[in-house]
This record gives sequence, structure tokens and C-alpha cells, in this order.
Amino acid sequence: MTNKPDAPQHPATIAARALGWEDRETGAITPPIHLSTTYTRDEAYQSRHGRTYLRDHGPTQYHAEQLLCELESGEDAISFASGLAACTAPFHGLNKGDHVVVSAVIYYGVLTWLVVFAEARGLEYSLFEPGNLDDLSNKLIDGKTKLVWLETPANPTWVVTDIAAVCEIAHARGVLVAVDSTVATPVLTRPIELGADFVCHSATKYLNGHSDVLGGMLVTAHADSDLWHRIRQHRLYAGAMLGSFEAYLLIRGIRTLFLRVGAQCENAMVIAGYLHRHPKVEHVHYPGLPGDPGHAIATRQMTGGYGGMLSILVPGGRAGAIAVVNNASVFKKATSLGGVESLIEHRKTSESGVTDTPENLIRISVGIEAVQDLVADLEQMLDR
Ligand code: PLP
Repeated sequence: MTNKPDAPQHPATIAARALGWEDRETGAITPPIHLSTTYTRDEAYQSRHGRTYLRDHGPTQYHAEQLLCELESGEDAISFASGLAACTAPFHGLNKGDHVVVSAVIYYGVLTWLVVFAEARGLEYSLFEPGNLDDLSNKLIDGKTKLVWLETPANPTWVVTDIAAVCEIAHARGVLVAVDSTVATPVLTRPIELGADFVCHSATKYLNGHSDVLGGMLVTAHADSDLWHRIRQHRLYAGAMLGSFEAYLLIRGIRTLFLRVGAQCENAMVIAGYLHRHPKVEHVHYPGLPGDPGHAIATRQMTGGYGGMLSILVPGGRAGAIAVVNNASVFKKATSLGGVESLIEHRKTSESGVTDTPENLIRISVGIEAVQDLVADLEQMLDR
């Protein structure tokens, strides 16, 4: 039983209460894990609440989906076994001959999927320069382009794209817009409120926040569209459902999302300022810095902070960057992002070769540790 009061609640309240669930029979307030893979039918041989088999529908998954749907102001949401499964689901829902326009700066995994599989599936794609709305407009092909895909702030340089402006251009040409909002989270940006048709998350990152769940979420602004129906079918028949235990952990993680992201933004701002002043740092990519090209849009579009992700360029190319990262002590030398612990990595090593990420780029995911310990660790890494 979820308990939705009439008065609208702040998203932080919705998240902390996990939709206000309580068990009618016992009064329990912590949502349970339903591990059952199958569900009995009623006397009329109908499924109960649409549930027959876990690959299609599960109560724990449904709870996590509805929670995120509410936080993203969507009409419906579905969970996936990973962020990439969620991000690529809209492409699976499109038809042979359809065309998508994709930001040239996005998480390398989505780009790799397009490079490896799009042509074989009859899906055509073009890349647009993020921030260049004329380029976006020029890449749209009337009657053929069905979707614009963007990420903001985008891996690994945290380029910020004006979601409302992209939606205005795309919608005027009858094209849908999907936004990978993994890094912004619904704490900082709610793309559907800015006009987007889909919002995608790697739930592995900030939504869960503890580096112990692999999962994805896709939210739609149009639950009754054909494309959404096909995406649901794709999840069912490709078997890309989120696991029940993961769904349980995800709900638990989302309850502290606002606190975590707030602390991560504050720490990231301090660290960005410190790195910006450091003589051994050539450049800092962080939209919170006034000199960053995305600063003005981010200030308008992101509410309450500029995110917990930043990247730096250091002297000495690949070897120079790896030498810095190798000295990490408080930071963990690992890929991924959005967990409570800070991570640092030589980004190019993690990517698959389809991107032009510079060899001297170090990606930093800022956690919730005391910021002086993070700054001290960066100091000894850079000064050795
Ligand atoms: N989108 C973004 C922005 C990401 O950073 C990632 C992973 O790092 C993904 C999607 C893919 O998520 P997952 O690793 O959960 O498949």
C-alpha cells in the first residue's frame, strides 16, 4: 500500500518516504523484497494486478519504478538489469530505417552500442555537437528522424546541454527527445518538466549510491504511446528485467538520494575550485566553475548544485595521468560514479576506443567523505 497525500510533496520528501509505503496487515514501513518469479491467477484465471511472471512485472521492481516515475514527473517507468539496457531500450523500440540524432559527447557505452549494432538493425544515426543547436537542427531529417538522444552533464567532460532548447527544436520537427540524466539525478534536473519525452538512468550510480547494484531505469512522459509499448515488449522478450534484490536495494538507496547528492555537489565544488588553482592541473571540467562553457545553462537548468562529477587534464599524457591516479589513497582507483565513496580513474583506459577522450584526462566521482581528506589526497597525488 502506498500512501499518497493530496498536498503535493517536495521530491526530497517523496524519496525519503519511498512513496510512503506501509503494510496494511503488519504496519511495517519498510518495503519488502518479493523474490517470487511467478504469481498465481485468480478464480477467473486472470492475473492479479497484471502480475504473472517476474520477467514482465514484479512488485519490488514496480515500487522502485513508481518511485522514480514520481521523482521524474513521468507517466510511467520501467526498470532494467543495467543502465545500458535502459539507455539502449528506446533504440530497440524503433523501426528499421528510423534515424536518431545523438549528442557526440555521451557515455561511451551508448556510443559503442550504436557503432556496433545500429547498422545491422537498420537504425541510422548522426552525431551532433552538444551545445550547437544549429548542428542539431541540420541533422534532423524530416519524416525519418524519430529520436534525439543526449546526456547532460555528459561523460567525461560534463558538457551541459540545454534540454528545453533541444526539445523545442526537436518537437517542432515531430521528433522525440531522450535524456540520460544519470549524472544530474532528479535532485538537480527533471528533464520531463523541461519537455523531454524519456529520461534514462544508470541506477547503478547516484540513484542507488552505494556501488552495490547494477540497474537501469527508463521513464516516459507518454505511457500510452506505441513506442513505450514496444520498449516494454523489448524488456519482456529480451529478458532485461531488474533483479528483485537489486530493486529492493535501489528503493533503499533512493531514500537518501537528496542528502547524498547535496553533499556530493558541495564537495565537488570545493574540489573543483582547489584543482582549478593547482599549478599541476592544466584544465578542470566542471559546470560549477564560472569559466566553464556550460556554467550559464547549468545555473539555469540544474537546481541546487552542479553535480558530483569532474574531470581534470594533467601534464605528461597517459603516463602522467596514470602516475597521479596510482597515488590515490582516500580516493579508490576504480571506474563508475555516484557512490558515497570517491573514485578516480584514467578515463581513456575504461572506454572502448570509440571516443576521443584525451589520454591525460582523469575522471573524478566525488563522494560524501569530509572534503578536507579528499583535498589532502589530491594534494599528495599531484605533488609527488
Ligand atoms: N549512462 C551513464 C551516464 C553512465 O555513466 C553509465 C555507466 O557508467 C551508463 C549509462 C551505463 O550504466 P550501467 O553501467 O549501469 O550499464
